[in-house]
Amino acid sequence: MHEKPIIGVLALQGCVDRHRPHIEAAGASFCAVKTPKEFEAVDALILPGGESTTMLKLIDTFGLEEPLKKVFAAKPVWGICAGSILMADKVSNPIQKSFSLMPITMERNGYGRQLESHNAVVEGFEVSFIRAPVVKAVNDNVEILASHEGVPVWLRSGQYMATTFHPELTLDYPSPMHQVFVGMVG
Ligand code: GLN
Repeated sequence: MHEKPIIGVLALQGCVDRHRPHIEAAGASFCAVKTPKEFEAVDALILPGGESTTMLKLIDTFGLEEPLKKVFAAKPVWGICAGSILMADKVSNPIQKSFSLMPITMERNGYGRQLESHNAVVEGFEVSFIRAPVVKAVNDNVEILASHEGVPVWLRSGQYMATTFHPELTLDYPSPMHQVFVGMVG
């Protein structure tokens, strides 16, 4: 653990750089990571929003599955939107592979198509739901940190955190979600 935690953001695809000001305002350092060596150098990892299918393909193409599993076993991980889909233990619409870090079931694009993308206020902070998944089932030992329209949207279990929305697009630093995640490190 570094004195100032280093938060890595998996930089294969999706929304990476917009995390930097939030992470820095929360008192940590930002690092975009895509190689096993870079994974080792960070204290925690964000799986960003983007397209979960594309990320899975790139993880496979670059042989990153085993190195990522090592990170998942040892460090705090936060999955955002597509990243939260990768963390679930069941995924529908369609069924696809995931890493089962959290006992949650996700329906991809569960709010509908791009037209259904919207902003909303969660825990007093404006966030963006972009072709977001809907959490369909949550195991008892998962803590629901926030819900929106009756659906859990911010969840935590142990060293893992998931949000089905993007907080990093809002230009008000740091987001409460980045603050909580940086607080989980160390
Ligand atoms: N719809 C995307 C997926 O299923 C997630 C969208 C996002 O991350 N904003 O992977």
